[in-house]
This record gives sequence, structure tokens and C-alpha cells, in this order.
Amino acid sequence: MSIRVVQCWDDGVVDDIRLTELLRKHGAKASFNLNFGHHTAMRRTGWKYEGVKEVWCLARSELISVYEGFTIANHGYRHVPPARSTLEEAREDIRKGRDSLEQHFGCPVLGYAYPGGSFDEATMALVREAGHIYGRVGRWVDQVFPPKDPMSFFPSCDFKDDDFLTKFESVQQRGGVFYFMGHSYQFMNEADWEEFERRLEYLNAAGVEWVELPDLFASRA
Ligand SMILES: [Zn+2]
Repeated sequence: MSIRVVQCWDDGVVDDIRLTELLRKHGAKASFNLNFGHHTAMRRTGWKYEGVKEVWCLARSELISVYEGFTIANHGYRHVPPARSTLEEAREDIRKGRDSLEQHFGCPVLGYAYPGGSFDEATMALVREAGHIYGRVGRWVDQVFPPKDPMSFFPSCDFKDDDFLTKFESVQQRGGVFYFMGHSYQFMNEADWEEFERRLEYLNAAGVEWVELPDLFASRA
């Protein structure tokens, strides 16, 4: 039985250049959750991951070539956690995020990933109202698909988790969907890149079917 695998990556950072090259090499489909308002004329950095690695946001002019062949999803215009804003601020950030990405990339943007992971009933309604078909939450569940409500859609794990392969193998045994997520700034050194490449090779050797996240939901209908 072939296992369907989906993956997504957040925040539109410079390490996505190397990541997308690696994913192309292994024929792995993926969604990238972007904050369009963070991409300006020049690359810019605002913080250090784990206090040591400078995280750089891609320049706006790089986005189309870096993500060519991948799916674009909305992560809020400015990464505003919707459940920690007023409803109006949240609605604005969600809508503007989606509209600006659709305009820039010239394709439908159907997925949303909650910035900071916070969500509630009211923000789920906003995500749905803005035209998204799912809203990803950054917490793990064993049975990812179909979610009880597509506006609270949970992955299986993070790409770096120690139990990544164990979780994959349990999906392999019972069937279903394996869904991992990440941020490419979490690649700290060459060993991290090599480890992830081994994981991609392992999944491919297991005969997985790489699926685009919106297609997963479309196939339900
Ligand atoms: Zn984020």
C-alpha cells in the first residue's frame, strides 16, 4: 500500500533555497507557508535561531524562482498570531496575506498555517471565510487525515524529530497520510542536511506518494 506524504515549511527564509533544491532532487512535493509582508526589496534579518544562527528572510524578487514548482500557502501577511489579536486585525492579516500571495504568484492560495500556532473557534472561522481549505496547527497527532475540522489540521511531526521514522513506520503499517513540517533555519550544520536527505531517501525507498496539500483535501470530495 502506498503511503501519501505531505510536507510544509514556514516563514520564507534563505535556507529554503537549498531546501527546495534538495526536494527537487528527490522529487518531493511541498508547500511553503509565506508571510508576504516580510519580504521586502532586500533580504533582511531580524533574529537568531537558538541565539546563534542569523535567520534571513528572502527578498521579494527571489520568491518566484525559489519556489518554482512548489505550492504556496498563507502564513499571515505579517505573521500575526490570530488568536492573540483583535478579530479585525486577525481578519486583515489573514486576508491580506492570501490576497498578496495570489497576486504575486498568480495562482490560487488555498492553505493557511497559523503563525505562532495559536488558534481558536473564531480564528478558524476567519481562515475559512478568507477562502482557505485548511488551517495548519503546529502540534502533532497520530492520525492526521482527514482532520475533524480542516481549519485545525495537525501534522504528524517536525522534520527533525527523533521519532520521525517511527511515526512514518506506524502510518506505513496502518495506512493513511504522513505529514511533517519544519522551518529551514532549523538546519544548523551539514549533518542536519545529510540527516534530512537520508530521511527523504528512506521515504522514497518505501515507495511513498508525494502529494500537494491542497490535493489531499480536493481528493476527499
Ligand atoms: Zn512562522
